[in-house]
Amino acid sequence: MTTLSKSKYLVGRQCPKRLWLETHRRDLLPPPSPARARVFSQGHEVGRLARERFPGGILISEDPLKWRAALTETTEALSAGARVLFEPCFIHDDTIARADVLSRNDDGSFDVYEVKSNTGPKPEHILDLAVQTYVYEGSGLPIRRAVLMHLNTSCRYPDLSNLFSLADLTDPVRRHLPEVAGKLAELKAVLDNPQEPAVHLGTRCAKPYECPFRPYCDGLWMLPDPSVFDIPHMHPEQRDALIERGILALEDVPADAELGPQGERFLRLHRSGTKEIDVDGIRTWLKRLVYPIHFLDFETDAPALPRLEGLGPFGSIPFQFSLHILHEDGRLEETPGFLHQDLSDPRPAIARTLLAQIGSSGSIVAYNASFEKSVIGKLATFLPEFAMPLNLFQPRFVDLLDIFRKHYFDPAFKGSSSIKHVLPVLCPELGYDGLEVGNGEDAQVAWAELISTQDPDRKASLAKALRDYCGLDTLAMVRLHEVLTRTCR
Ligand code: SF4
Repeated sequence: MTTLSKSKYLVGRQCPKRLWLETHRRDLLPPPSPARARVFSQGHEVGRLARERFPGGILISEDPLKWRAALTETTEALSAGARVLFEPCFIHDDTIARADVLSRNDDGSFDVYEVKSNTGPKPEHILDLAVQTYVYEGSGLPIRRAVLMHLNTSCRYPDLSNLFSLADLTDPVRRHLPEVAGKLAELKAVLDNPQEPAVHLGTRCAKPYECPFRPYCDGLWMLPDPSVFDIPHMHPEQRDALIERGILALEDVPADAELGPQGERFLRLHRSGTKEIDVDGIRTWLKRLVYPIHFLDFETDAPALPRLEGLGPFGSIPFQFSLHILHEDGRLEETPGFLHQDLSDPRPAIARTLLAQIGSSGSIVAYNASFEKSVIGKLATFLPEFAMPLNLFQPRFVDLLDIFRKHYFDPAFKGSSSIKHVLPVLCPELGYDGLEVGNGEDAQVAWAELISTQDPDRKASLAKALRDYCGLDTLAMVRLHEVLTRTCR
């Protein structure tokens, strides 16, 4: 008997090949990244807090491998008149579903709650609640409401009484319900087939979730580098249509493909092996810069559960900055920057340090400056005593990203203007490869460990890794500025 679960249903709806691989080729699954593991652990904590909203609820054994025991436990609890169950187990049509919360109403009907550590309903939540409703109603439970319990963006620490919001998805769930039986049958047929399904790459590989089998499938389809996935701003349906026709290489994209202006420029430059550099535009950008030029980069964390005053779910906590200052005489100064190293609130210290290290004049250059400006804006709102000097930083910002969005196009950037794509092409001597912390997500995970570990050696090594990473971000901007200056000579 092929048994499905609601999570397998969701995986199969994303991609039948992913479902097949997750079931028959688990050896291909990479271990979850530390960032992914952190998301899971935050999800568990959110689930635990959600249960506290249902006093007296009974938790059914959670071990997914012991679902038969959980089935018995659920039946016994319901027979004994339990009003609220957490993780109750039901099976219908060879499909297992376990609700985060199942609550019995006075009229004998039930409300099912799905708890998610995000901030609102998404299409996949409807599929999730629909397959659960299908299983519960098939097991004889009348379902009155199907509800998403998600984090409330209006909640502000320390008052967590309104941490959750409810979204009643009963109507869309009922509309989806007639599809469920047919889809389950299709997915069971996929699993029963010893042959791996021949599904093409496409938008499904990243939506609604990043598929962990992507490296395997890229190899299977011999995805060239670059490929149609690198065409910027291409409509996903247009890209999928090309892939369905077997077109993966940029060389094979037909002349009549709808790529949009940015995609057409990328393809034209790729095919001709040329760059498009608007020297006048870059010169105008450079002329806006006033010495001393401050190259600034923040690292922030955004935990699902707020723990600092005034912050809500996923509220931003700036915990580190790096700052290089280029003086008019050519001298490059690397300031100490800032890295918060304990569980206290970093915002007052980071604001004070920022004000001490950034002088009262000169431009402030950031890559995607709207982010740095918003961090400073939030610090100014939270710390009124520093608001005036912090707000004076805002008009001094100049965005380096503008250059690579508007004035400098190299097909080697692979259709991206991100510093992670631009830097290896223009400054190959600098790179993020080999760093213990190599991206913003890694930095968040490293910082979460840094502020909680009691091991001084580990703390020191994490602090070094974070300083190396953030420092490289600002040094990269300095080097890119040099390249641009040379380009305009
Ligand atoms: S990488 Fe794409 S095609 Fe391959 S299993 Fe995942 S979603 Fe399916």
